[in-house]
Amino acid sequence: MSVFEELHKQIERCQDCALGKYRTRAVPGEGLENAEIMFIGEAPGWNEDQQGLPFVGAAGQFLTSLLASIGLNRNQVYIANVIKCRPPGNRDPLPGEIQVCSKYLDKQIELIKPKMIVTLGRYSMARYFPNETIGKIHGTAKQKDNITYFAMYHPAAALHQANLKSTIEADMLKIPPLLAKLRDASKAVPAQEEKLLAKMEDKKLIDSKPAPAQIEKPAAPAKEQEISEKPVAPQKEEETVTKAEEQKLPENKTIPPRDEKPAIIIEEQALEPKQLNLF
Ligand code: SF4
Repeated sequence: MSVFEELHKQIERCQDCALGKYRTRAVPGEGLENAEIMFIGEAPGWNEDQQGLPFVGAAGQFLTSLLASIGLNRNQVYIANVIKCRPPGNRDPLPGEIQVCSKYLDKQIELIKPKMIVTLGRYSMARYFPNETIGKIHGTAKQKDNITYFAMYHPAAALHQANLKSTIEADMLKIPPLLAKLRDASKAVPAQEEKLLAKMEDKKLIDSKPAPAQIEKPAAPAKEQEISEKPVAPQKEEETVTKAEEQKLPENKTIPPRDEKPAIIIEEQALEPKQLNLF
């Protein structure tokens, strides 16, 4: 059994809110498990409760004809509701019921990974367009977390207010161009990623070539290494090295006067700072 089927079984057994007691059948959802587009309504009605399927009454028939108007059928999309069990007497779902049931819809979205979610009606809209009104934002879209949300009236609204039918039909026709843009955008992303990877590969090749200085630079004399690793103030350095030289001098050699700089100091000064820093 797939994760998706297991989720549906879980919904069918669920008694996490009071609606579990009243339903005939739970209505998990129906359609393509990797659909590009999901339609989310409010709650099952009487017909849905009897059959365990979403949007199978008069409103469902209108939704099917709306899908056909944009060249889609029910098997090419996924259809679900915010609430999986019918509230008694078709009353509005309570906030607590919506809250408890939201885990199932969230999981369905996580598994399906749709490009677009079409909200049908107020309760579905409220999840993704908080503090908005359906009369104001129907037919508009917004993008969040890689999903485009598109708000529409519930198809049942056209059954109660005939003048909304043409509005709903017009809103539905906005979906194909939006979906086409999303498809183009998802094609463009892999191309950009490939370019980026190619750039990174080029950079790696360049970085992996040894720097000429590292190959050609001979090993530094021990004295230079000591000087560069343990820098001292110039005056002290002179004194330290001069003392060392004095100790090394054979007894028959005269010690140079203090104002004459010993050869090793001259060599040290002759070294460019850049060269010293290489070791
Ligand atoms: S409405 Fe949701 S939470 Fe309540 S019983 Fe049905 S499936 Fe469970």
